[in-house]
Amino acid sequence: MREIHHFINGASHPGRSGRFGDVFNPSTGAVQARVQLATADELDLAVQAAARAQIGWAATNPQRRARVMFEFKRLLEARMTELAELLSSEHGKVVADSKGDLQRGLEVIEFACGIPHALKGEYTEGAGPGIDVYSMRQPIGVGAGITPFNFPAMIPMWMFGVAIATGNSFILKPSERDPSVPVRLAELMMEAGAPAGVLNVVHGDKVAVDAILDHPLIRGVSFVGSSDIANYVYARGAQNGKRVQAMGGAKNHGVILPDADMTQAVKDISGAAFGSAGERCMALPVVVPVGKKTADEFRERMVAEIETLKVGVSTDAAAHYGPVVSAAHRDRIAGYIQMGVDEGAELVVDGRGFAMQGYEDGFYIGPSLFDQVKPTMQSYQDEIFGPVLQMVRADSLEEAIALPSKHQYGNGVAIFTQNGRAARDFAAAVDVGMVGINVPIPVPVAYHTFGGWKRSAFGDTNQHGMEGVKFWTKVKTVTARWPDPQLDGHADSSFVIPTMK
Ligand code: NAD
Repeated sequence: MREIHHFINGASHPGRSGRFGDVFNPSTGAVQARVQLATADELDLAVQAAARAQIGWAATNPQRRARVMFEFKRLLEARMTELAELLSSEHGKVVADSKGDLQRGLEVIEFACGIPHALKGEYTEGAGPGIDVYSMRQPIGVGAGITPFNFPAMIPMWMFGVAIATGNSFILKPSERDPSVPVRLAELMMEAGAPAGVLNVVHGDKVAVDAILDHPLIRGVSFVGSSDIANYVYARGAQNGKRVQAMGGAKNHGVILPDADMTQAVKDISGAAFGSAGERCMALPVVVPVGKKTADEFRERMVAEIETLKVGVSTDAAAHYGPVVSAAHRDRIAGYIQMGVDEGAELVVDGRGFAMQGYEDGFYIGPSLFDQVKPTMQSYQDEIFGPVLQMVRADSLEEAIALPSKHQYGNGVAIFTQNGRAARDFAAAVDVGMVGINVPIPVPVAYHTFGGWKRSAFGDTNQHGMEGVKFWTKVKTVTARWPDPQLDGHADSSFVIPTMK
Protein backbone atom coordinates (compact mmCIF):
# COMPACT_ATOMS: atom_id res chain seq x y z
CA MET A 1 0.00 0.00 0.00
CA ARG A 2 1.21 3.51 -0.86
CA GLU A 3 2.65 5.30 2.14
CA ILE A 4 2.56 9.08 2.49
CA HIS A 5 5.67 10.40 4.20
CA HIS A 6 6.48 13.64 5.98
CA PHE A 7 8.43 16.28 4.05
CA ILE A 8 11.22 17.67 6.19
CA ASN A 9 14.19 19.84 5.25
CA GLY A 10 13.56 19.53 1.54
CA ALA A 11 13.20 15.75 1.41
CA SER A 12 10.68 13.00 1.91
CA HIS A 13 11.02 11.74 5.47
CA PRO A 14 9.76 8.26 6.35
CA GLY A 15 8.35 8.45 9.87
CA ARG A 16 9.19 5.98 12.61
CA SER A 17 6.20 6.32 14.90
CA GLY A 18 4.60 3.11 13.65
CA ARG A 19 1.25 4.91 13.68
CA PHE A 20 -0.70 5.50 10.48
CA GLY A 21 -3.98 6.95 9.30
CA ASP A 22 -6.03 5.46 6.47
CA VAL A 23 -6.50 7.63 3.38
CA PHE A 24 -9.67 6.68 1.54
CA ASN A 25 -10.90 7.24 -1.97
CA PRO A 26 -14.39 8.49 -1.04
CA SER A 27 -15.73 7.74 -4.52
CA THR A 28 -15.08 4.01 -4.11
CA GLY A 29 -14.89 3.72 -0.34
CA ALA A 30 -11.54 1.91 -0.60
CA VAL A 31 -8.43 2.66 1.43
CA GLN A 32 -5.91 3.88 -1.15
CA ALA A 33 -2.93 4.83 1.03
CA ARG A 34 -1.80 5.21 4.59
CA VAL A 35 -0.27 8.33 6.05
CA GLN A 36 2.29 8.46 8.80
CA LEU A 37 1.30 10.10 12.05
CA ALA A 38 4.20 11.96 13.64
CA THR A 39 5.61 11.81 17.14
CA ALA A 40 6.69 14.94 19.01
CA ASP A 41 10.32 14.06 18.13
CA GLU A 42 9.55 14.01 14.43
CA LEU A 43 7.84 17.38 14.74
CA ASP A 44 10.92 18.66 16.53
CA LEU A 45 13.11 17.50 13.63
CA ALA A 46 11.05 19.66 11.28
CA VAL A 47 11.14 22.62 13.64
CA GLN A 48 14.91 22.45 13.94
CA ALA A 49 15.24 22.38 10.13
CA ALA A 50 12.81 25.28 9.85
CA ALA A 51 14.65 27.33 12.47
CA ARG A 52 17.96 26.82 10.66
CA ALA A 53 16.48 27.75 7.29
CA GLN A 54 14.62 30.77 8.59
CA ILE A 55 17.75 32.80 9.33
CA GLY A 56 18.95 32.89 5.72
CA TRP A 57 15.43 33.15 4.34
CA ALA A 58 14.64 36.22 6.46
CA ALA A 59 17.87 37.79 5.21
CA THR A 60 16.86 37.18 1.58
CA ASN A 61 15.48 40.41 0.17
CA PRO A 62 11.70 40.51 -0.24
CA GLN A 63 11.85 40.78 -4.01
CA ARG A 64 13.80 37.54 -4.24
CA ARG A 65 11.35 35.86 -1.91
CA ALA A 66 8.55 37.12 -4.14
CA ARG A 67 10.28 35.60 -7.18
CA VAL A 68 10.01 32.18 -5.54
CA MET A 69 6.27 32.77 -5.18
CA PHE A 70 6.00 33.78 -8.86
CA GLU A 71 7.78 30.58 -9.90
CA PHE A 72 5.65 28.48 -7.54
CA LYS A 73 2.54 29.94 -9.17
CA ARG A 74 3.87 29.06 -12.62
CA LEU A 75 4.71 25.48 -11.58
CA LEU A 76 1.37 24.97 -9.87
CA GLU A 77 -0.57 26.27 -12.86
CA ALA A 78 1.33 23.87 -15.12
CA ARG A 79 0.28 20.95 -12.89
CA MET A 80 -3.23 22.11 -12.10
CA THR A 81 -5.10 19.15 -13.60
CA GLU A 82 -2.83 16.49 -12.09
CA LEU A 83 -3.06 18.10 -8.66
CA ALA A 84 -6.83 18.58 -8.88
CA GLU A 85 -7.29 14.89 -9.72
CA LEU A 86 -5.10 13.87 -6.80
CA LEU A 87 -7.04 16.19 -4.50
CA SER A 88 -10.40 14.82 -5.66
CA SER A 89 -9.26 11.25 -5.21
CA GLU A 90 -8.70 11.83 -1.47
CA HIS A 91 -11.36 14.46 -0.72
CA GLY A 92 -14.23 13.38 -2.98
CA LYS A 93 -15.09 16.78 -4.41
CA VAL A 94 -15.49 16.93 -8.19
CA VAL A 95 -12.36 17.79 -10.18
CA ALA A 96 -13.65 21.22 -11.32
CA ASP A 97 -14.18 22.10 -7.65
CA SER A 98 -10.68 20.87 -6.75
CA LYS A 99 -9.33 23.23 -9.42
CA GLY A 100 -11.25 25.99 -7.64
CA ASP A 101 -9.61 24.92 -4.36
CA LEU A 102 -6.15 25.21 -5.96
CA GLN A 103 -7.01 28.43 -7.79
CA ARG A 104 -8.27 30.14 -4.62
CA GLY A 105 -4.98 29.26 -2.93
CA LEU A 106 -3.05 30.53 -5.94
CA GLU A 107 -4.78 33.87 -5.58
CA VAL A 108 -3.17 34.22 -2.15
CA ILE A 109 0.17 33.30 -3.76
CA GLU A 110 -0.47 36.13 -6.27
CA PHE A 111 -1.01 38.46 -3.31
CA ALA A 112 2.24 37.15 -1.81
CA CYS A 113 4.07 38.03 -5.05
CA GLY A 114 3.51 41.68 -4.08
CA ILE A 115 4.99 41.23 -0.62
CA PRO A 116 7.77 43.85 -1.00
CA HIS A 117 5.04 46.48 -1.17
CA ALA A 118 3.14 45.05 1.81
CA LEU A 119 6.27 44.97 3.96
CA LYS A 120 7.13 48.63 3.59
CA GLY A 121 7.25 50.28 6.99
CA GLU A 122 6.38 53.80 8.08
CA TYR A 123 8.67 56.77 8.52
CA THR A 124 8.29 60.10 10.27
CA GLU A 125 10.98 62.65 9.70
CA GLY A 126 11.42 65.19 12.50
CA ALA A 127 9.19 63.59 15.12
CA GLY A 128 11.23 65.64 17.63
CA PRO A 129 14.30 67.85 17.41
CA GLY A 130 16.66 65.90 15.16
CA ILE A 131 14.58 62.77 15.77
CA ASP A 132 13.17 60.46 13.14
CA VAL A 133 10.86 57.52 13.86
CA TYR A 134 10.45 54.53 11.63
CA SER A 135 8.84 51.13 11.84
CA MET A 136 9.59 47.86 10.12
CA ARG A 137 7.84 44.53 9.86
CA GLN A 138 10.00 41.53 10.71
CA PRO A 139 9.07 37.86 10.39
CA ILE A 140 8.03 36.14 13.61
CA GLY A 141 10.38 33.18 12.95
CA VAL A 142 9.00 29.66 12.62
CA GLY A 143 5.26 29.49 11.97
CA ALA A 144 2.92 26.52 11.85
CA GLY A 145 -0.38 25.82 10.13
CA ILE A 146 -2.91 23.15 11.08
CA THR A 147 -5.49 22.65 8.35
CA PRO A 148 -8.84 20.89 7.78
CA PHE A 149 -9.74 18.27 5.19
CA ASN A 150 -12.17 20.36 3.20
CA PHE A 151 -9.68 22.67 1.42
CA PRO A 152 -6.39 20.75 1.37
CA ALA A 153 -4.80 23.19 -1.13
CA MET A 154 -6.39 26.59 -0.54
CA ILE A 155 -6.08 26.78 3.24
CA PRO A 156 -2.41 25.70 3.41
CA MET A 157 -1.69 28.36 0.75
CA TRP A 158 -3.63 31.01 2.73
CA MET A 159 -1.14 30.37 5.49
CA PHE A 160 2.25 29.47 4.07
CA GLY A 161 1.86 31.84 1.09
CA VAL A 162 1.90 34.87 3.35
CA ALA A 163 4.08 33.41 6.12
CA ILE A 164 6.90 32.40 3.78
CA ALA A 165 6.77 35.54 1.63
CA THR A 166 7.16 37.63 4.79
CA GLY A 167 10.37 35.77 5.71
CA ASN A 168 9.21 33.00 8.04
CA SER A 169 9.79 29.30 7.70
CA PHE A 170 6.81 27.03 8.07
CA ILE A 171 5.58 23.68 9.38
CA LEU A 172 2.33 22.52 7.79
CA LYS A 173 0.28 19.88 9.61
CA PRO A 174 -2.40 19.09 7.03
CA SER A 175 -5.50 17.01 7.55
CA GLU A 176 -4.59 13.36 7.78
CA ARG A 177 -7.61 12.57 5.57
CA ASP A 178 -6.27 14.14 2.35
CA PRO A 179 -2.54 14.68 2.90
CA SER A 180 -1.06 14.14 -0.59
CA VAL A 181 -1.60 17.54 -2.19
CA PRO A 182 0.00 19.44 0.73
CA VAL A 183 3.18 17.37 0.22
CA ARG A 184 3.13 18.16 -3.50
CA LEU A 185 2.81 21.86 -2.68
CA ALA A 186 5.94 21.68 -0.50
CA GLU A 187 7.84 19.84 -3.24
CA LEU A 188 6.83 22.51 -5.75
CA MET A 189 7.97 25.27 -3.39
CA MET A 190 11.43 23.64 -3.32
CA GLU A 191 11.39 23.34 -7.11
CA ALA A 192 10.45 27.02 -7.26
CA GLY A 193 13.60 27.92 -5.32
CA ALA A 194 12.60 27.98 -1.64
CA PRO A 195 15.56 26.69 0.40
CA ALA A 196 15.24 23.32 2.14
CA GLY A 197 13.55 23.69 5.52
CA VAL A 198 11.53 26.76 4.60
CA LEU A 199 8.38 24.66 4.11
CA ASN A 200 7.99 21.33 5.91
CA VAL A 201 4.99 19.02 6.07
CA VAL A 202 4.45 16.91 9.17
CA HIS A 203 1.46 14.60 9.10
CA GLY A 204 -0.35 13.68 12.23
CA ASP A 205 -3.19 13.83 14.67
CA LYS A 206 -3.56 15.32 18.17
CA VAL A 207 -0.03 14.19 19.07
CA ALA A 208 1.50 16.35 16.33
CA VAL A 209 -0.88 19.24 17.03
CA ASP A 210 0.00 19.26 20.73
CA ALA A 211 3.70 19.10 19.88
CA ILE A 212 3.23 22.19 17.69
CA LEU A 213 1.34 24.02 20.42
CA ASP A 214 4.01 23.25 23.00
CA HIS A 215 7.14 23.75 20.90
CA PRO A 216 9.09 26.80 22.15
CA LEU A 217 10.57 27.63 18.73
CA ILE A 218 7.19 27.92 17.01
CA ARG A 219 6.12 31.54 17.40
CA GLY A 220 2.79 31.61 15.59
CA VAL A 221 0.08 29.04 14.88
CA SER A 222 -2.68 29.35 12.34
CA PHE A 223 -5.49 26.81 12.64
CA VAL A 224 -8.59 26.12 10.57
CA GLY A 225 -11.03 23.37 11.53
CA SER A 226 -13.99 22.71 13.79
CA SER A 227 -14.79 25.12 16.62
CA ASP A 228 -14.11 22.98 19.69
CA ILE A 229 -10.64 22.15 18.41
CA ALA A 230 -10.08 25.75 17.28
CA ASN A 231 -10.91 26.88 20.81
CA TYR A 232 -8.53 24.29 22.28
CA VAL A 233 -5.71 25.25 19.89
CA TYR A 234 -6.22 28.94 20.62
CA ALA A 235 -6.19 28.46 24.39
CA ARG A 236 -3.21 26.10 24.55
CA GLY A 237 -1.14 28.03 22.00
CA ALA A 238 -1.83 31.37 23.69
CA GLN A 239 -1.08 29.84 27.10
CA ASN A 240 2.33 28.95 25.69
CA GLY A 241 2.93 32.53 24.58
CA LYS A 242 2.29 32.05 20.88
CA ARG A 243 0.42 34.21 18.48
CA VAL A 244 -2.64 32.14 17.47
CA GLN A 245 -5.43 32.57 14.96
CA ALA A 246 -7.96 29.73 14.98
CA MET A 247 -10.85 29.61 12.53
CA GLY A 248 -13.76 27.35 13.44
CA GLY A 249 -17.06 26.00 12.16
CA ALA A 250 -19.95 27.79 10.53
CA LYS A 251 -23.65 27.82 9.83
CA ASN A 252 -24.21 30.46 7.18
CA HIS A 253 -27.67 31.86 6.46
CA GLY A 254 -29.05 33.11 3.14
CA VAL A 255 -31.84 35.65 3.57
CA ILE A 256 -34.29 36.13 0.68
CA LEU A 257 -36.36 39.30 0.67
CA PRO A 258 -39.67 39.36 -1.24
CA ASP A 259 -38.21 41.54 -4.01
CA ALA A 260 -35.27 39.19 -4.76
CA ASP A 261 -34.71 37.74 -8.22
CA MET A 262 -36.00 34.31 -7.19
CA THR A 263 -34.68 32.45 -10.25
CA GLN A 264 -31.15 33.62 -9.47
CA ALA A 265 -31.52 33.13 -5.70
CA VAL A 266 -32.59 29.50 -6.13
CA LYS A 267 -29.64 28.76 -8.42
CA ASP A 268 -27.21 30.55 -6.13
CA ILE A 269 -28.44 28.83 -2.98
CA SER A 270 -28.50 25.41 -4.64
CA GLY A 271 -24.81 25.75 -5.57
CA ALA A 272 -23.87 27.18 -2.18
CA ALA A 273 -25.80 24.57 -0.16
CA PHE A 274 -24.96 21.44 -2.12
CA GLY A 275 -21.63 22.27 -3.86
CA SER A 276 -18.78 20.15 -2.47
CA ALA A 277 -21.53 18.14 -0.69
CA GLY A 278 -21.93 21.05 1.72
CA GLU A 279 -18.43 20.49 3.10
CA ARG A 280 -17.45 24.15 3.01
CA CYS A 281 -17.21 26.58 5.90
CA MET A 282 -18.74 29.12 3.52
CA ALA A 283 -21.56 26.82 2.39
CA LEU A 284 -25.11 28.16 2.80
CA PRO A 285 -27.01 25.46 4.72
CA VAL A 286 -29.77 27.75 6.09
CA VAL A 287 -32.19 29.71 3.93
CA VAL A 288 -34.40 32.39 5.47
CA PRO A 289 -37.17 33.52 3.11
CA VAL A 290 -39.01 36.59 4.42
CA GLY A 291 -42.80 36.30 4.18
CA LYS A 292 -45.00 33.29 3.40
CA LYS A 293 -45.23 33.98 -0.33
CA THR A 294 -41.43 34.12 -0.67
CA ALA A 295 -41.03 30.94 1.36
CA ASP A 296 -43.65 28.96 -0.57
CA GLU A 297 -42.21 30.02 -3.91
CA PHE A 298 -38.66 29.27 -2.83
CA ARG A 299 -39.63 25.84 -1.57
CA GLU A 300 -41.42 24.87 -4.77
CA ARG A 301 -38.57 26.05 -6.98
CA MET A 302 -35.86 24.51 -4.82
CA VAL A 303 -37.55 21.11 -4.90
CA ALA A 304 -37.53 21.32 -8.71
CA GLU A 305 -33.89 22.48 -8.70
CA ILE A 306 -32.84 19.57 -6.48
CA GLU A 307 -34.36 17.15 -8.98
CA THR A 308 -31.85 18.41 -11.58
CA LEU A 309 -28.82 17.76 -9.34
CA LYS A 310 -26.46 14.95 -10.22
CA VAL A 311 -24.38 13.29 -7.53
CA GLY A 312 -21.47 11.36 -8.98
CA VAL A 313 -17.92 10.11 -8.64
CA SER A 314 -15.42 12.93 -8.31
CA THR A 315 -14.12 12.36 -11.86
CA ASP A 316 -17.57 12.69 -13.43
CA ALA A 317 -17.47 16.06 -15.21
CA ALA A 318 -21.27 16.17 -15.27
CA ALA A 319 -21.70 15.67 -11.51
CA HIS A 320 -22.62 18.68 -9.36
CA TYR A 321 -21.05 17.15 -6.31
CA GLY A 322 -19.34 13.96 -5.22
CA PRO A 323 -19.17 11.81 -2.09
CA VAL A 324 -18.45 13.18 1.38
CA VAL A 325 -15.08 12.57 2.95
CA SER A 326 -15.76 9.43 5.00
CA ALA A 327 -18.38 6.84 5.88
CA ALA A 328 -18.43 8.17 9.46
CA HIS A 329 -19.17 11.67 8.20
CA ARG A 330 -21.93 10.41 5.90
CA ASP A 331 -23.51 8.60 8.85
CA ARG A 332 -23.21 11.73 11.00
CA ILE A 333 -25.04 13.77 8.34
CA ALA A 334 -27.76 11.10 8.13
CA GLY A 335 -27.99 11.26 11.93
CA TYR A 336 -28.66 15.01 11.75
CA ILE A 337 -31.38 14.45 9.15
CA GLN A 338 -33.05 12.02 11.54
CA MET A 339 -32.62 14.51 14.38
CA GLY A 340 -34.39 17.18 12.29
CA VAL A 341 -37.29 14.81 11.69
CA ASP A 342 -37.47 13.89 15.38
CA GLU A 343 -37.41 17.57 16.36
CA GLY A 344 -40.48 18.23 14.20
CA ALA A 345 -39.01 19.88 11.11
CA GLU A 346 -40.60 18.91 7.79
CA LEU A 347 -38.28 16.80 5.62
CA VAL A 348 -39.29 17.84 2.10
CA VAL A 349 -36.50 16.02 0.24
CA ASP A 350 -34.65 13.10 1.88
CA GLY A 351 -31.12 12.43 0.60
CA ARG A 352 -30.56 9.37 2.75
CA GLY A 353 -30.44 6.01 1.13
CA PHE A 354 -28.87 7.39 -2.03
CA ALA A 355 -26.63 4.78 -3.70
CA MET A 356 -24.37 5.08 -6.72
CA GLN A 357 -24.64 2.15 -9.04
CA GLY A 358 -21.26 0.47 -9.36
CA TYR A 359 -19.92 2.45 -6.38
CA GLU A 360 -22.04 1.03 -3.58
CA ASP A 361 -19.19 1.36 -1.06
CA GLY A 362 -18.58 5.08 -1.82
CA PHE A 363 -19.57 7.74 0.73
CA TYR A 364 -22.51 9.27 -1.10
CA ILE A 365 -25.50 11.10 0.24
CA GLY A 366 -28.18 12.85 -1.79
CA PRO A 367 -29.38 16.44 -1.26
CA SER A 368 -31.92 17.05 1.52
CA LEU A 369 -34.30 19.95 2.13
CA PHE A 370 -36.06 20.79 5.38
CA ASP A 371 -38.90 23.28 5.88
CA GLN A 372 -40.37 24.52 9.17
CA VAL A 373 -37.02 24.49 10.95
CA LYS A 374 -37.09 26.42 14.23
CA PRO A 375 -34.16 28.23 15.89
CA THR A 376 -34.58 26.14 19.04
CA MET A 377 -33.81 22.88 17.20
CA GLN A 378 -30.42 21.27 17.82
CA SER A 379 -30.17 20.34 14.13
CA TYR A 380 -30.33 24.09 13.36
CA GLN A 381 -27.85 25.12 16.02
CA ASP A 382 -25.15 22.61 15.04
CA GLU A 383 -22.98 22.60 11.95
CA ILE A 384 -24.01 19.58 9.84
CA PHE A 385 -21.38 20.04 7.10
CA GLY A 386 -23.29 18.05 4.51
CA PRO A 387 -25.74 18.52 1.60
CA VAL A 388 -28.65 19.51 3.84
CA LEU A 389 -30.55 22.78 3.34
CA GLN A 390 -32.69 23.97 6.25
CA MET A 391 -35.43 26.52 5.70
CA VAL A 392 -36.33 28.85 8.57
CA ARG A 393 -39.27 31.11 7.75
CA ALA A 394 -39.14 34.74 8.91
CA ASP A 395 -41.84 37.43 8.89
CA SER A 396 -39.64 40.51 8.69
CA LEU A 397 -36.17 41.74 7.82
CA GLU A 398 -35.54 42.33 11.53
CA GLU A 399 -36.32 38.70 12.29
CA ALA A 400 -34.07 37.62 9.41
CA ILE A 401 -31.20 39.73 10.75
CA ALA A 402 -31.67 38.33 14.26
CA LEU A 403 -31.34 34.67 13.19
CA PRO A 404 -27.70 34.69 11.99
CA SER A 405 -26.84 37.36 14.55
CA LYS A 406 -27.95 35.18 17.46
CA HIS A 407 -26.43 31.99 16.07
CA GLN A 408 -23.32 30.66 17.81
CA TYR A 409 -21.39 30.79 14.52
CA GLY A 410 -20.74 34.00 12.60
CA ASN A 411 -18.68 33.09 9.57
CA GLY A 412 -20.65 34.20 6.51
CA VAL A 413 -24.15 35.36 5.61
CA ALA A 414 -25.89 36.46 2.42
CA ILE A 415 -28.91 38.55 1.51
CA PHE A 416 -30.79 38.38 -1.78
CA THR A 417 -32.68 41.55 -2.65
CA GLN A 418 -32.98 44.36 -5.17
CA ASN A 419 -33.40 46.92 -2.41
CA GLY A 420 -30.09 48.66 -1.80
CA ARG A 421 -31.24 50.29 1.40
CA ALA A 422 -32.36 46.98 2.95
CA ALA A 423 -29.07 45.33 1.90
CA ARG A 424 -27.09 48.18 3.41
CA ASP A 425 -29.00 48.01 6.71
CA PHE A 426 -28.57 44.23 6.78
CA ALA A 427 -24.80 44.41 6.16
CA ALA A 428 -24.38 47.03 8.86
CA ALA A 429 -26.49 45.30 11.50
CA VAL A 430 -25.79 41.58 11.14
CA ASP A 431 -23.42 40.05 13.72
CA VAL A 432 -21.39 38.00 11.22
CA GLY A 433 -17.87 38.48 9.82
CA MET A 434 -18.38 38.14 6.05
CA VAL A 435 -21.48 39.37 4.21
CA GLY A 436 -22.66 38.71 0.67
CA ILE A 437 -25.18 40.96 -1.09
CA ASN A 438 -26.60 38.85 -3.92
CA VAL A 439 -23.38 36.82 -3.52
CA PRO A 440 -24.04 33.38 -2.00
CA ILE A 441 -20.45 32.53 -1.00
CA PRO A 442 -18.88 35.79 0.14
CA VAL A 443 -15.28 34.59 0.41
CA PRO A 444 -13.28 37.81 0.12
CA VAL A 445 -10.63 38.11 -2.59
CA ALA A 446 -7.05 37.36 -1.51
CA TYR A 447 -5.96 40.98 -1.02
CA HIS A 448 -8.86 41.50 1.40
CA THR A 449 -9.10 39.26 4.40
CA PHE A 450 -10.98 36.15 5.51
CA GLY A 451 -12.40 35.60 8.96
CA GLY A 452 -15.62 35.01 10.83
CA TRP A 453 -16.93 36.14 14.20
CA LYS A 454 -18.14 34.46 17.40
CA ARG A 455 -17.41 30.70 17.50
CA SER A 456 -16.21 30.82 13.87
CA ALA A 457 -12.88 32.37 14.85
CA PHE A 458 -10.73 32.61 17.95
CA GLY A 459 -8.00 35.26 18.02
CA ASP A 460 -8.23 38.64 16.41
CA THR A 461 -6.34 38.52 13.13
CA ASN A 462 -7.81 37.20 9.90
CA GLN A 463 -6.30 35.13 7.12
CA HIS A 464 -4.46 36.68 4.13
CA GLY A 465 -4.54 40.25 2.86
CA MET A 466 -2.85 42.79 5.13
CA GLU A 467 -4.28 40.99 8.19
CA GLY A 468 -2.23 37.94 7.18
CA VAL A 469 0.88 40.09 6.80
CA LYS A 470 0.24 41.48 10.28
CA PHE A 471 -0.18 38.02 11.76
CA TRP A 472 3.06 36.65 10.34
CA THR A 473 5.18 39.71 11.16
CA LYS A 474 5.95 41.78 14.21
CA VAL A 475 6.41 45.51 14.13
CA LYS A 476 9.60 47.08 15.38
CA THR A 477 9.63 50.85 15.85
CA VAL A 478 12.92 52.76 15.92
CA THR A 479 13.34 56.25 17.35
CA ALA A 480 16.63 57.70 16.08
CA ARG A 481 18.53 60.84 17.00
CA TRP A 482 21.88 61.78 15.50
CA PRO A 483 23.01 64.78 17.55
CA ASP A 484 26.19 66.65 16.71
CA PRO A 485 27.93 67.37 20.08
CA GLN A 486 29.85 70.22 18.44
CA LEU A 487 26.66 71.98 17.40
CA ASP A 488 24.10 70.72 19.91
CA GLY A 489 26.21 70.25 23.02
CA HIS A 490 25.14 67.53 25.44
CA ALA A 491 21.66 67.28 26.84
CA ASP A 492 21.23 66.97 30.63
CA SER A 493 19.98 63.72 32.10
CA SER A 494 16.22 63.65 32.24
CA PHE A 495 14.32 61.78 34.90
CA VAL A 496 10.85 62.32 33.54
CA ILE A 497 9.28 60.45 30.69
CA PRO A 498 10.15 62.16 27.39
CA THR A 499 7.16 63.93 25.84
CA MET A 500 6.53 65.94 22.72
CA LYS A 501 5.53 69.04 24.67
P1 NAD B 1 -11.18 19.11 12.39
O1 NAD B 1 -11.36 20.11 13.47
O2 NAD B 1 -11.59 17.71 12.64
O3 NAD B 1 -9.62 19.02 11.99
C1 NAD B 1 -8.87 20.18 11.72
C2 NAD B 1 -7.40 19.89 12.09
O4 NAD B 1 -7.32 19.62 13.48
C3 NAD B 1 -6.83 18.69 11.36
O5 NAD B 1 -5.53 18.98 10.94
C4 NAD B 1 -6.85 17.59 12.42
O6 NAD B 1 -5.81 16.65 12.27
C5 NAD B 1 -6.68 18.37 13.71
N1 NAD B 1 -7.34 17.71 14.84
C6 NAD B 1 -8.41 16.88 14.80
N2 NAD B 1 -8.75 16.46 16.03
C7 NAD B 1 -7.88 17.06 16.89
C8 NAD B 1 -7.73 17.05 18.31
N3 NAD B 1 -8.54 16.35 19.09
N4 NAD B 1 -6.75 17.78 18.84
C9 NAD B 1 -5.92 18.51 18.07
N5 NAD B 1 -6.03 18.56 16.71
C10 NAD B 1 -7.00 17.85 16.13
O7 NAD B 1 -11.90 19.71 11.10
P2 NAD B 1 -12.18 18.99 9.71
O8 NAD B 1 -13.26 17.98 9.88
O9 NAD B 1 -10.90 18.56 9.08
O10 NAD B 1 -12.72 20.23 8.86
C11 NAD B 1 -14.05 20.65 8.88
C12 NAD B 1 -14.25 21.79 9.84
O11 NAD B 1 -13.41 22.90 9.50
C13 NAD B 1 -15.67 22.34 9.80
O12 NAD B 1 -16.08 22.63 11.10
C14 NAD B 1 -15.52 23.61 8.98
O13 NAD B 1 -16.51 24.59 9.20
C15 NAD B 1 -14.19 24.08 9.43
N6 NAD B 1 -13.61 25.03 8.49
C16 NAD B 1 -13.57 26.34 8.88
C17 NAD B 1 -13.06 27.28 8.01
C18 NAD B 1 -12.99 28.72 8.41
O14 NAD B 1 -12.25 29.46 7.79
N7 NAD B 1 -13.71 29.15 9.42
C19 NAD B 1 -12.59 26.88 6.76
C20 NAD B 1 -12.65 25.52 6.41
C21 NAD B 1 -13.16 24.60 7.31
